[in-house]
Amino acid sequence: MAKHIFVTGGVTSSLGKGIIAASVAKLLQARGFIVTIQKFDPYINVDPGTLNPYEHGECFVTDDGAETDLDLGHYERFLSIATSRANNVTTGLIYQTVINRERAGDFLGKTVQVIPHITDEIKRRMMLLDIENKFDIIITELGGTAGDIESLPFTEAVRQLQWELPKEDIMLIHLTLLPYLKVAQELKTKPTQHSVKILSENGLHPDVIVCRTEQVIPNELRKKISQFCNVKPDAVIEAIDADTIYEVPLLMLKEKLDSLCLQKLNLASKKPLDMGAWEYFLHRLKSPMNTIKIGLIGKYIELQDAYKSILESFVHAGAYNDIKVQVISIHSESLNVDNAHEKLGSLDGLLVAPGFGLRGIEGKILAVRYAREQRIPFLGICLGMQMATIEFARHVLNLESAHSTEIVPNTPYPIIALMENQKTISQKGGTMRLGAYACDIKEHSLAFDAYQTKLIYERHRHRYEFNNQFLKQFEEAGMIATGKNSETNLVEIIELSNHPFFIGVQFHPELKSTVERPAPLFLKFVEACKNYAKSKITP
Ligand code: GLN
Repeated sequence: MAKHIFVTGGVTSSLGKGIIAASVAKLLQARGFIVTIQKFDPYINVDPGTLNPYEHGECFVTDDGAETDLDLGHYERFLSIATSRANNVTTGLIYQTVINRERAGDFLGKTVQVIPHITDEIKRRMMLLDIENKFDIIITELGGTAGDIESLPFTEAVRQLQWELPKEDIMLIHLTLLPYLKVAQELKTKPTQHSVKILSENGLHPDVIVCRTEQVIPNELRKKISQFCNVKPDAVIEAIDADTIYEVPLLMLKEKLDSLCLQKLNLASKKPLDMGAWEYFLHRLKSPMNTIKIGLIGKYIELQDAYKSILESFVHAGAYNDIKVQVISIHSESLNVDNAHEKLGSLDGLLVAPGFGLRGIEGKILAVRYAREQRIPFLGICLGMQMATIEFARHVLNLESAHSTEIVPNTPYPIIALMENQKTISQKGGTMRLGAYACDIKEHSLAFDAYQTKLIYERHRHRYEFNNQFLKQFEEAGMIATGKNSETNLVEIIELSNHPFFIGVQFHPELKSTVERPAPLFLKFVEACKNYAKSKITP
């Protein structure tokens, strides 16, 4: 049986519970344990797939095709493991399961209630990853903040588990905030005291309190928190603001958070701690030789979280290229023929982002055109790849009104069209082409240069695809399909044969980039941008 660590949050949201959970997991992994992390979200959507990025940031897709919370992206990037559908559970999913069972007659004669039926289903899901006996430690992050009405059933489930599991098999980490009051020049502990009090009213008692803070926590304050909140002084952990999230595991190591977990769970380290690869990455990340500027052309740029995995992939690929990638977010709606040169001219590379719907589409097409004509390194992802083909059709093949049927359903040149098996689907949730699919790569291509193999698996999230009726025309004019799915013949990668670096991919390479295994395509793209920047200085 696996050991369980639950991570809750108090005082406010956005304290970085996901990063703390991932950091603990990383340290335990570096001590030889097989660890995974799951996230329980209190909202009623069955999954975040139908949520607008403005609501909830990026939707992260797993290999097995689940649309999940972006924290799963952090888990994968830190641990270099794949998560799955079972790693993200929402209140909506819990209720859907219980209600389906009620309709099937599973509870015949009984009143179906939050306790025990909903809490039983929550507990079953909390233990689900343990069924195959694959993990030594399972970390469960509870979404929301202590005291939220909607997360009460989750806290209640953990309360019950505290009594059902052996004492040394379960522990609780509570993340809170110590606000710094400038006028008083003091860190304040009251919000933390209140948050722990709320937890204890719900029958939960933290073993460790991790305090987010802008300032070093003085020892007396640790003592005070310890006294008021009923934990040992060494179980009050400082989580001071860091320059990069990738520093947090090392900060937690310094605070001995991993040792505290091992102690409470009655475990001995399986091997001496090895954070070598991590430290090497961090070292390169912090000492770049130069900076390059890459434009990210998207329509959700007001919200950093909307393109989380893309931004992190640039951090990984930049570090391995000894370069700092400064991502310049450009709103595709703000781009037009008159300002394109001013906005894009000084950039060392352009990435046209994924997306849905009409808004900002012409700006994306314009950015593709600029990259193609000015020979700037270009990477198009999903919708970005689709717009690269539309741009090519319009301006190279002279099919002026070429479009995607997502935007103009009756376009005379449907370069991008709905996939055959999507035509009969009307339900929105979980019905796209989702998850990892195989892609065969042609040798002598940028894609092969990047991946160094002829068969890759990358993750997808889309309904529309390149229309193969146009492929011959495209290839004759220099836009080549260098990656295809051999089963369905769907075009997954396109490249321009007469451009230094122009590639569009129907899949999302950013979803598999991790600290220890950066995405090959991002590595190559950043390298191309770096070379392009150099060529501008010494032509
Ligand atoms: N809207 C496009 C489609 O559904 C692209 C989706 C995306 O960029 N993730 O095919």
